[in-house]
Amino acid sequence: MNLHEYQAKNLYRKYDIPTTKGKLLTHPSQLDDILRTIGKDKWVIKAQVHSGGRGKAGGVKLVESKSEANEEVRRLLGSRLVTNQTSAKGQPINSIFIEEPCDILDEIYLAFAVDRTTQRIMIITSSEGGMEIEEVAEKSPEKILRNPINPVVGIMPAQCRQICDDLGLDKTLSAQMIDLLQKTYKMFVENDLSLVEVNPLVITKQGYLMCLDGKVQVDNSSLYRQAKMNEIRDESQEDERELKAEKLDLNYVSLDGNIACMVNGAGLAMATMDLIQTYGGEPANFLDVGGSVNEKRVIEAFEIILSDTKVNGILVNIFGGIVRCDIIAGGIISAAQKMNLHIPIVVRLEGTNAKEGLELIRNSSVSVYEEANLDKAAKKIIELTNLDSKKNTEKEEN
Ligand code: GDP
Ligand code: MG
Repeated sequence: MNLHEYQAKNLYRKYDIPTTKGKLLTHPSQLDDILRTIGKDKWVIKAQVHSGGRGKAGGVKLVESKSEANEEVRRLLGSRLVTNQTSAKGQPINSIFIEEPCDILDEIYLAFAVDRTTQRIMIITSSEGGMEIEEVAEKSPEKILRNPINPVVGIMPAQCRQICDDLGLDKTLSAQMIDLLQKTYKMFVENDLSLVEVNPLVITKQGYLMCLDGKVQVDNSSLYRQAKMNEIRDESQEDERELKAEKLDLNYVSLDGNIACMVNGAGLAMATMDLIQTYGGEPANFLDVGGSVNEKRVIEAFEIILSDTKVNGILVNIFGGIVRCDIIAGGIISAAQKMNLHIPIVVRLEGTNAKEGLELIRNSSVSVYEEANLDKAAKKIIELTNLDSKKNTEKEEN
């Protein structure tokens, strides 16, 4: 789960990590009060959405008068922000963080992330922080430095000093940086985070380090013991279908394609998506219905799959180990009847009671293609989906 910038900054403050102060606005009527409390005559208006790249998308604005602040707040609040990291629909702006501006001398990039390859928490730094960091990563990757933390000893002072040297920080800034790195590591571990990205971490003209942005991700698997994080979760920023699936205990990830998959087992689901892709199709989702799937869950899974309007074909791939294929078949038939399905469905059932399951489907009135061979099943759903979309375009054209 992601935190908003203002939530990330609250967390920094709890760990005594230097960051900018601000106030959260959720209604335009609060603006006057907020500006008065902050004081000053310039402010930074920042849209709170779960996405980076807000600056470039017009979601971060420096305003120099109350009327300009008012204008920006009214423009942003209640609208959606489309950045290079969001979908075309963008993310809803339900709150705005207003801060006093900070005098920036230089921008550094700092991140703590879980690195799967080294199985370590990795400190990632660059002296070229700011809004062009993606370009730096692409064009001059040597300017991005990576330092793994050994989990047995934790973050080491010598390692921190090395990072400061690499960033070319002077003695005063290095002392601040070493402190900041150690506190960030503590925050990362204690809160089961999977990402802390501070871009930019600025050096102010007054000579201080200051976290100006905050992208914090909490490991979803830890939410059962991070009660406080659960409380501040903002579901309005999350994918509706993924959220619904999570509540039903289904493993679902939305993707961009048009062929939905329903599979039991994460590995088999990955292999199924790979096959679809290999034969020129585009999967619409990853969906692992799990090992304890029953008829009810099959119907729920179908409902989630079909709430995605991009979907115009479904491939069901079930390997019955503990799961009985006839029960799955019952679920498919009920779902197809209940939802009045008229998009192609290819079903591959293998393992326990596969024969009985296929027989049920054959004897039912639903038009479902069965295919025992997974390779052929993948090809079949692509062929049928293409045919179907061609027919639909022809219909629209006539
Ligand atoms: P992002 O675009 O979503 O990463 O949002 P950021 O919080 O990083 O803001 C984008 C950019 O706005 C930063 O890289 C800064 O250059 C600039 N910015 C943000 N806050 C301030 C501020 O207080 N003062 C000044 N001068 N610039 C700021
Ligand atoms: Mg940023």
